[in-house]
Amino acid sequence: MKYLPLMHNFERKTCLIVGGGKVALRRAKSVLAAGGIVDVIAPTCLPELFDLVHQYKSGQYKNGQYQAEDIDPRYALVIAATNDRQINQAIAQQCKAKNILVNVVDDSSLCDVTFPAIVDRNPILVAISSGSASPQFSKLLRERINTFIPNGYGKLAELFGRYRKRVKSSIPKTKDRAVFWNKVVHSYIAESALSGNLEQAEAQLKGAIDNHEKLEQCGEVYLIGAGPGDPDLLTLRALRLLQQSEVIVYDRLVAPEILNRLEQGKDLIYVGKQRANHSVAQPQINELLIRYASQGRRVARLKGGDPFIFGRGGEEIENLAAHNIPFQVIPGITAANGCASYAGIPLTHRDHAQSVRFVTGQLQNGAVNLNWAELTAADQTLVFYMGLQGLPIICENLIKHGAATNTPAALIEKGTTLQQKVHISTLEELAALLESIEIHAPTLTIVGSVVNLHASLHWFNKSVSS
Ligand code: SAH
Repeated sequence: MKYLPLMHNFERKTCLIVGGGKVALRRAKSVLAAGGIVDVIAPTCLPELFDLVHQYKSGQYKNGQYQAEDIDPRYALVIAATNDRQINQAIAQQCKAKNILVNVVDDSSLCDVTFPAIVDRNPILVAISSGSASPQFSKLLRERINTFIPNGYGKLAELFGRYRKRVKSSIPKTKDRAVFWNKVVHSYIAESALSGNLEQAEAQLKGAIDNHEKLEQCGEVYLIGAGPGDPDLLTLRALRLLQQSEVIVYDRLVAPEILNRLEQGKDLIYVGKQRANHSVAQPQINELLIRYASQGRRVARLKGGDPFIFGRGGEEIENLAAHNIPFQVIPGITAANGCASYAGIPLTHRDHAQSVRFVTGQLQNGAVNLNWAELTAADQTLVFYMGLQGLPIICENLIKHGAATNTPAALIEKGTTLQQKVHISTLEELAALLESIEIHAPTLTIVGSVVNLHASLHWFNKSVSS
């Protein structure tokens, strides 16, 4: 270990920064964020730095060159941030002679202390150092860690902090306390806090402390939208909850890559449904979720797209609520959004469409029953979620109810995946197109003049026919 990592309580301590440029400003912000006071010495100073120094506490700005006597023992830290190497060296020497901690920008050999890259989820703080070998590497790591630490961790830690004493008096043995906190951190209590419901989390935590002997892992269900196909469209929360799930009940439209990315050891249960071939009926799915959650397991119910858009998500959670099983819903990117973006077809556009409708058009006894008059109103985009069967009937009816025969229509197959294809046609010609080419499910159809924008805005489509 090249450095000794310590967290410095800098509250009301004073730091001298020599230099008035961008780096000085960055350092000043860090010191002030930690409750410190900043003095600055520089012949010129960025206005933002000048304001910061005076705005917070009683910092001072000395307009001029640095002098050896400026290094005063009242400083807990001195930062040499000039662009003159000799001055920086002289500052470092003075500090060493006076036993004051010094940080020299861009010269680690002169530093007593360095500024790590940080991930701040106050009060949680992650500091990353590359031992001066590669600041770029620290930045890269910070990006990665930032992505995976939910924003709510700070609030959660703060809540736990407030109850530490109470837990200590209720559970005197250190070992029992460790077991307790470990259970809490993996429980619905933590999930309540992370999903922003702090009041509920606090009430649950109080309940858990009062009944700590009985605090067992309580089963819960996460109804998660997996997005339309590209596995990278999964949200960060979805990924985190999938990682901590023990059972995953998933649909046909869920990208296999998402499941492949998860650690082994989870129970993966396929309940995919295909048209006219319901492999697992909805009541059975409901029953599965209740059964696993009642065993105290964390169950992810993973669905293609968004669970609340043509996904029967509402019915599944009604059922969970009726059985008092805790659940949360994690939205996903719905097929319409995913396909539209990847096909370069904005769903609304000031010159084309002021509203958008998501429509499901399933065939029932050879007919599609929709409110055609509404669907043919002007200045809107229609997105049809469905298989291909009813599509010719839909085009026919739209025309019959007043839509122009040449209204543009885009049929998108396997949207957002590497196999995505976009077929551009019109209401009049779409049926013939379907006859002439081989098409693979799932498909989605976008109707409206926004489709014309595809020609100039697409960047991802594999093939275009018209
Ligand atoms: N809850 C899902 C929709 C489920 S209904 C969502 O929000 O996206 C299933 C229909 O969604 C399919 O018949 C198809 O019309 C559409 N769909 C889903 N994924 C798709 C994809 N990758 N490409 C094209 N259409 C898709």
